[in-house]
Amino acid sequence: MNVHAIQTGTVAVKTRQREGTGRGAARLPKTLIDRNWTDPLPIFAWLIEHPEGLIVVDTGETAHVADPGYFPRWQPYFKLAVREWVAPEDEIGPTLKALGFFPDDVRWVIMTHLHTDHAGGLSHFPNSEILVHRPEFENARGLMGKARGFLPHRWPPWFAPRLFELDPEPFGPFSESMRVTEAGDVRVVPTHGHTRGHVSVVLEEEAQLVFFAGDASYSEALMVDQAIDGVAPDARSAKETLCRIRELTRERPLVYLPSHDPKAPKRLDARQIVTAEVSQGAPATHDHINEKSARSEPTA
Ligand SMILES: [Zn+2]
Repeated sequence: MNVHAIQTGTVAVKTRQREGTGRGAARLPKTLIDRNWTDPLPIFAWLIEHPEGLIVVDTGETAHVADPGYFPRWQPYFKLAVREWVAPEDEIGPTLKALGFFPDDVRWVIMTHLHTDHAGGLSHFPNSEILVHRPEFENARGLMGKARGFLPHRWPPWFAPRLFELDPEPFGPFSESMRVTEAGDVRVVPTHGHTRGHVSVVLEEEAQLVFFAGDASYSEALMVDQAIDGVAPDARSAKETLCRIRELTRERPLVYLPSHDPKAPKRLDARQIVTAEVSQGAPATHDHINEKSARSEPTA
């Protein structure tokens, strides 16, 4: 199946956001005061040319991030810990068109989570069915959503996503999942931690799985190393998520595609699976952890 990486500009975050330090509540302040920035990282969305219709995973960022006052000034994360560069032609609408696709022809938009660098391009899809995990939507909306670092007041006025819950249908080490396509070859699996309702999208191709990880980790190496980020409000869920993903890579050949990993498009094109080093890691021990223990806080 043809799958495209859609780059919608770049983002720099604190190095401690990419890989967190410290434990518990100290991780977020440590990220905010970190003086070291990452290089500008790509902001990816993805397009799957599925026989049942075009599927977009996340919508990338909007060029409006350059507008004065776009971000709430009282939110310390936006003031201290993130920089973004998005030109109008970098937005997902123009980028899709440059590839020969029209946003109006997209059947489903599946959101891994609702941070601005994933939801900034929603305005390009007024005619698509937009799928959002209900707990993610509840966590991101309203004043509390704003306090947690989401920008619900920037969602398009027509935004009324199809809110879904996961079904008790296991997929590999994940106890729940939801089929998106009739064929059952595109699914959503729970990857909470980075946000309360974060999910990832799995495409089953004949030989391998293609795993659209969202911000479950910022790179493949960090997933292999089981290193959680510096902003996840729930470190335990984040850890458990990385554990499950790594276990899935042991069960099935898997191409791992985080949203901000510069090497992801190359791995996608080559269908390069997560390999060897993974099998030398510690055994997965997620079974005793309660998945539904999430709280939430600011981020991108
Ligand atoms: Zn995020």
